[in-house]
Amino acid sequence: MRGTAVPGIDESHVAQNYHPLPIVISRGEGAWVTDAEGKRYLDLLAAYSALNFGHRHPALIAVATEQLGRLTLTSRAYHNDRLGSFAAALAELCDKDLVLPMNTGAEAVETGIKVARAWAYRAKGVARDRAQIIVAHGNFHGRTTTIVGFSDDAASHDDFGPYGPGFVPVPFGDADAIEAAITPDTAAVLIEPIQGEAGVVIPPEGYLRAVRALCDRHNVLFIADEIQSGLGRVGTTFACDREDVTPDVYLLGKALGGGILPVSAVVGDADVLGVIQPGEHGSTFGGNPLAAAIGTRVVEMLSTGEFQQRAAALGSHLETRLGELVGHGVTAVRVAGLWAGVDIDPAVGTGREVAERMLERGVLVKETHGQTIRIAPPLVIRATELDWALEQLKVVLEG
Ligand code: PLP
Repeated sequence: MRGTAVPGIDESHVAQNYHPLPIVISRGEGAWVTDAEGKRYLDLLAAYSALNFGHRHPALIAVATEQLGRLTLTSRAYHNDRLGSFAAALAELCDKDLVLPMNTGAEAVETGIKVARAWAYRAKGVARDRAQIIVAHGNFHGRTTTIVGFSDDAASHDDFGPYGPGFVPVPFGDADAIEAAITPDTAAVLIEPIQGEAGVVIPPEGYLRAVRALCDRHNVLFIADEIQSGLGRVGTTFACDREDVTPDVYLLGKALGGGILPVSAVVGDADVLGVIQPGEHGSTFGGNPLAAAIGTRVVEMLSTGEFQQRAAALGSHLETRLGELVGHGVTAVRVAGLWAGVDIDPAVGTGREVAERMLERGVLVKETHGQTIRIAPPLVIRATELDWALEQLKVVLEG
């Protein structure tokens, strides 16, 4: 299904690779956006669009404006005066040694895969070109050709082969399946600690701890794709924190750019990330001064714990209110901090239909798969705004 066209908007030259909601957004502030006609909408697509701190957060706009007036992009052939402090701050937030900066989430995942393979050959002693990475069914790690090769979502995967070898999919949430899949050639386990695009799928309690223990026992890297789940969204800095687990490698993106520009990073200790030698990996834009300045401010904002606390407090309120809807147009909810997957009763309509009815009522949500909508407000949302959005959902469900 194509996104519904909006009268007066000519997108005939845009390759239609998305199903956009029928709305043209022209302005944003806090948790709100305004369309071309001046109508306001509460934007609950923050995890999707990387806006953990809302639209045009003053602290982030200030640092971006200051940096735009000073220096924007430079060649990585020489140093820039922002990258070192960004890397130091992010490494500290993650309690790791090193940061490898990239731009998009998919690039961070690709980088993580390269690091895992190089580590397998150079540190673990796996024979060249034999390294395997265990991944989870239902994953979403991005759109590049390597990554879509191990996706089991038809729209992401089909007709984009031939696919790269070296990935072993197992059921998500099943640590025994991981253990059964480990061989001497296993370099890494790559998982989202909570699967986002799959519909906010939360693994059983103890799964992340079990993965950590398995990886330790078998000398395998634990790579956590926290691109959507990380940086405060679930009420802790990382979703892995929910089980007090530290992966070997964090993959970060989305909110790291503060809703201003794409910034991603791979973060790990020197014995892992240090396997990459100068000249072996790079990016024209990764770690540029503008990105580094904004990323540093994002990390500072997270360092106080304020956003994590907001996400936890408002998230438990969200969980209670959504729980009341189960049996009333909703079949199941899964909530982690300010992040929820809501399964819509087919008698009410599809996820897409509910998203379009919410749009009419001034709230932006989006379907993930068929019957599921995802709610991911900016962490700056007020309790009253959240309540109002949930009222709109209730009205939509009541038909
Ligand atoms: N990993 C996860 C968990 C994601 O949710 C996404 C995007 O939704 C990506 C990776 C890819 O990020 P990007 O779209 O910035 O390439």
